[in-house]
Amino acid sequence: MSATVFRNIGELTTNGDLGVLHDAALVLDGQRVVWVGADVDAPAADSSFDVGGRAVLPGWVDSHTHLAFAGDRSTEFAARMAGETYTAGGIKVSVERTRAASGDELRSLMAERIRTANVNGTTWLETKTGYGLDVETEERSARLAAEFGQDVTFLGAHVVPDGWDADDYVALVTGPMLQAVRPYVAWMDVFCERGAFDEAQSRAVLQAGLDSGLGLRVHGNQLGPGPGVRLAVELGAASVDHCNFLDNEDIDRLAASSTVATLLPACDLSTRQPFPPARSLIDAGATVALASNCNPGTSYTTSMAFCVATAVLQMHLSVEEAVWSATMGGAVALRRHEGELPIGGLMPGFRADLQVLDAPSVTHLAYRPGMQLTQAVWQAGVRLA
Ligand SMILES: [Zn+2]
Repeated sequence: MSATVFRNIGELTTNGDLGVLHDAALVLDGQRVVWVGADVDAPAADSSFDVGGRAVLPGWVDSHTHLAFAGDRSTEFAARMAGETYTAGGIKVSVERTRAASGDELRSLMAERIRTANVNGTTWLETKTGYGLDVETEERSARLAAEFGQDVTFLGAHVVPDGWDADDYVALVTGPMLQAVRPYVAWMDVFCERGAFDEAQSRAVLQAGLDSGLGLRVHGNQLGPGPGVRLAVELGAASVDHCNFLDNEDIDRLAASSTVATLLPACDLSTRQPFPPARSLIDAGATVALASNCNPGTSYTTSMAFCVATAVLQMHLSVEEAVWSATMGGAVALRRHEGELPIGGLMPGFRADLQVLDAPSVTHLAYRPGMQLTQAVWQAGVRLA
């Protein structure tokens, strides 16, 4: 092991009991943070890195992406910007392109997307299948995603493919398709929405996930009010994602549960949906995560800094709340915030996932939106960028 001390940190976001420290230092040893405190008290280490008064914060935890796809949908985007309404059906275009891509093509597309995310400060990614919708392509997507490690989610229940009866397709997803992807995935997800899967079908999908030992995630309440949040809380899902259309009962349910409300601001902009009631969720005591939802239809970005800026500028979160939600919030949504090597914070024992901003404080993430502020990134103690 070789310890590195980061000296002269202008602002250190720990996401722990120490809160935000000024004039701070941090020591990592191997893949862990082993010490944080005042710069004047910093212990000696094998090597030293002078941060020059800049801000240091945990790497982004992007708890919702769909990176296993080929092709783009810029034509659909342009039509939407010209006034067409988003529906769940556009997913089928990506399915055609993803099925047609070779394994090597898909692997290199994913690798490049992850590299871009890493350079922009993301040190942990969840990614989903869901552009295969047949056993062969879903299995391939899950297997390739697992090569990149971290969290892989089975989203065979993304939309009902053309030519299928919905209930027959649910039987395929919960049967042979689930069996094929099972070695590669930790999570089961379903798009519980008009035009995708109704409550009974979503429940069947999620129950099959539970029965095979998977954790649960839900796409819910994106395009209108619906049963997604209620179902997610009832079945103990780790997260329900989108949450644009919530009633007071949904907010109370989330606040009283351990299900995280994962909000996807870049997607809301790209679909011109009303933003979710982020302020009400936090004020009620719900746990909120922010994620990119990187996908070719409705959110073609892995920039978590953009999501943080949007959450502040449009959804009325404070910068500190938005940064917490994009780091520790994502870790909670993936149940990675505790245990053997937790992520999402910079405290002794946590994985050394951190980024240095070319700015004195995280406020600059919203104050100077769209600027490339992430200057250097360490993932599990290894410098990435
Ligand atoms: Zn999604």
